[in-house]
Amino acid sequence: MTGKIRLINAALQGNIHEGKPYEIVVENGRFTKVKEQPFVVQDGSFRPLEMFSHISELTCLEPEGELVIDLKRRMVLPGLVDIHMHLDKAFSLREVGNQTGTLLEAIQNYGRSAPFFTKETIRSRIIRTALQSVSYGSTRLRSHLDFPIAAGEDVVMRTVEAALEAKSMLKGVVDIQFFPMVPYRDLGKRGLELIEESIRMGMDGIGGAPHLSATPDQDIEGIFKLAARLGTKIDLHCDETDDPVKRTVLKVAEESLRYGFQGNVTAGHLCSLSSMPPEEAEEVLDMMSLAGVHAVTLPAANLYLQGRADLGPVRRGVTRVRELREAGVTVAAASDNINDPFHPFGRGDLLQIALLTGYASHYGSPDDMNALIEMVTTAPAEIYGCKAYGIHPSHPADFVIVDAERTEEIFTMLPAGRWVAKSGKWVSMTPSARQWGSPQMAAMWEQVTSEVFTEGRM
Ligand SMILES: [Zn+2]
Repeated sequence: MTGKIRLINAALQGNIHEGKPYEIVVENGRFTKVKEQPFVVQDGSFRPLEMFSHISELTCLEPEGELVIDLKRRMVLPGLVDIHMHLDKAFSLREVGNQTGTLLEAIQNYGRSAPFFTKETIRSRIIRTALQSVSYGSTRLRSHLDFPIAAGEDVVMRTVEAALEAKSMLKGVVDIQFFPMVPYRDLGKRGLELIEESIRMGMDGIGGAPHLSATPDQDIEGIFKLAARLGTKIDLHCDETDDPVKRTVLKVAEESLRYGFQGNVTAGHLCSLSSMPPEEAEEVLDMMSLAGVHAVTLPAANLYLQGRADLGPVRRGVTRVRELREAGVTVAAASDNINDPFHPFGRGDLLQIALLTGYASHYGSPDDMNALIEMVTTAPAEIYGCKAYGIHPSHPADFVIVDAERTEEIFTMLPAGRWVAKSGKWVSMTPSARQWGSPQMAAMWEQVTSEVFTEGRM
């Protein structure tokens, strides 16, 4: 199903597009035409001229095999990019548990359970979660991976192998990057060899959480030395704590400058940044901006995990999104953990995460809503390293059609209906979206979902 697709009466996101009708053509996996349709302004809104009146809602024009879909003003967004997930841990809550709901118990319980998960279990969790994310419109994912060297070499390598197998099985459906969460202290020669081996096998970069270490500065120096030697990107969990004194991100920024790593380093969470006084936060923002360190806000997990010891006022843990953006830092919003001991909720839906970011960061004006969309599209695409991203001629045709006409409607309705295409090939359609089309379309979707989703069933 990679033939020519012509979307008509489509809506695009962003101020210059909002409300106008577009024609979008996809051929050989790429966008070949993105053009504003002729329209008239009627009662304050744009009405397309009836240039396509001969076409019913859905037409398959044979023999060319061109699929023409009248979107009736539904919005087409570029494929969403979830830049911070934990696919290997997702849906493990029932087995691992977390009675207190704290980060500490989550780390302890998961650490105890990790040696008992088989490679098949981990692979199955990765595939299930990735496919669920695809169904909500994500076409690229970055996942951190458990890498517990102390638990034994076999435990580490089965996670790496499970991840690589899942990635290969999902090829053509969703692109995935993996960043092992490496411990840095007392690694020993074999520990370092294991990290190098995992990178050689196909891991995409180095992750970790140096703020949890007793010697974060030395650890961060070690991470950069290693990443420079292996030529990989760095993506760290940074200062995921209410403690305003923790600011390991300053050392991360310093090392980024020293190694010339601007644009290749990402810091997730940054909860302490929201706890510190504004004048102290400013120093952190300036350094991150100067060093080209990207930021990722994870509002779901942070709202859930942070502020638990506060009797009032209760800190909410979500970083300073507006100030980071104003300082010129690229800021993405992402899912983080899903139904695991770290965060019991979530479903891999970046539009839901964007809405949560709106609540948590006080983003709600029309410009703010555009910014929320940026935080799950162009910003994470930049962090991911996408070279030709977005709905433009010649770019890969990764897109999601949502059942909404305007950006505001995305956030008020959080529409369930989504059609998702990866490189011009349909990869998912949620049940309510299936109702948009004709019986012919519904039959096509049945085929798409059975082809793509069989592997992901538990
Ligand atoms: Zn995380």
